[in-house]
Amino acid sequence: MKKILIVGGGMGGTILANNLARRLRRELDKGDVKITMLSASDQHMYQPGLLYVAFGKAMPDELYRDQASLLEPGIEFHVDPVESFHLDNNQVATVSGKTYDYDYIAIATGSQAKPDNIPGLLEHGHHVYTEEAALKTWEALSSFEGGNVAIVTGVPHKCPMVPLEITFMMHDYFKDRGILDQVSFKYTYPIGRLHSLVNVGKWAEKEFDRLGIEYETLFNPKEVDGDSRQVHSEEGSTLDYDLLIAIPPHKGMDTIESNELGTSGWIPTDRATLNVEGHDNAFVLGDTTNLPISKAGSTAHYEAEVLGENIAAQVKHGRRVRDYDGKVFCFIEAGKDRATFASFNYTTPPDPQPPTETVHWFKLAYNQLYWNSVRGLL
Ligand SMILES: Cc1cc2nc3c(=O)[nH]c(=O)nc-3n(C[C@H](O)[C@H](O)[C@H](O)COP(=O)(O)OP(=O)(O)OC[C@H]3O[C@@H](n4cnc5c(N)ncnc54)[C@H](O)[C@@H]3O)c2cc1C
Repeated sequence: MKKILIVGGGMGGTILANNLARRLRRELDKGDVKITMLSASDQHMYQPGLLYVAFGKAMPDELYRDQASLLEPGIEFHVDPVESFHLDNNQVATVSGKTYDYDYIAIATGSQAKPDNIPGLLEHGHHVYTEEAALKTWEALSSFEGGNVAIVTGVPHKCPMVPLEITFMMHDYFKDRGILDQVSFKYTYPIGRLHSLVNVGKWAEKEFDRLGIEYETLFNPKEVDGDSRQVHSEEGSTLDYDLLIAIPPHKGMDTIESNELGTSGWIPTDRATLNVEGHDNAFVLGDTTNLPISKAGSTAHYEAEVLGENIAAQVKHGRRVRDYDGKVFCFIEAGKDRATFASFNYTTPPDPQPPTETVHWFKLAYNQLYWNSVRGLL
């Protein structure tokens, strides 16, 4: 019997498990293959929904499903986080003290926001990367009566579009509340343009100019002084704020780092095969790779499809079939009722078009369709 072990029951792990279960249905039913998923929670959260929680447009309970209900029949699921990885012995050990051996392993343990990595940010900034933080941001936005809104971004971070989206959405939110003329925005970004993707940066610059949103590039937040309400940057500049919105820097999970699988929890990954470097039967997908591409759900989704095909072909025929080409697709909310998108891969950059209402409604529809997508039905 071939044993496939999937570590992590988020976007990447779930799509991969379901993809494999369908491709290997006959082998699963005959007992020739076993698919096991180990995760840290019995709940699955649709994380992109947290952005809408911050504006009172979604409630947190809408964003959760029981993880077991999302899995194809025959997938063995345990809430039992992996504590130690022994890739040379094809084995992991879990928090409950059990060991699991495998023929193939896929690691999809995701990433974590670390606002505490920038002094003062946790205490004085607002963000949307956890349920608790998104609810606090909603409270802060709804009680804000005007002043300086500063947007600061740490790197690396999950979902490349959040800094832009939250800025555009705040613009329309304050407009609807009738206080836009009392608000001045300062969007900052760590590199010398408005976004890591050149064309997205150019597109955003035009939109910001049109809306009167000010920006400063080469601004890496170093520390926040809550008494003087100022953010100091690594580059030596200072930003005043009355409301501080942060995109916190992220790390991979502590278990990845403590097992020395990768610095800061990012696992060295082959960009085409998605192998953990140096291990033929170990794969990595989603946020936890060290690939220089977006840490986004769509990245995890496209990687999971490639790995599903490859691992199934390896089980059945002893060889893989295709490479991951770096494909990513991200919607970009450009206000309360307009959106565009960026679609790109390793060789072809995105070319975002003027935002439309249709794309916005498509994004809202996707927020619901996600539950079909993660089951692999879309
Ligand atoms: C506010 C916000 C907005 C976003 N917007 C978008 C968007 O518009 N488009 C987009 O594509 N992406 C978006 N994303 C990003 C997207 O949600 C993530 O990139 C995606 O969830 C990553 O998938 P993953 O499988 O790598 O990790 P996750 O989905 O985070 O899953 C990780 C899993 O690993 C489990 N785990 C952790 N440690 C262990 C362990 N030791 N053992 C076993 N299991 C473990 C966890 O319980 C979890 O189930 C957004 C994210 C946020 C927070």
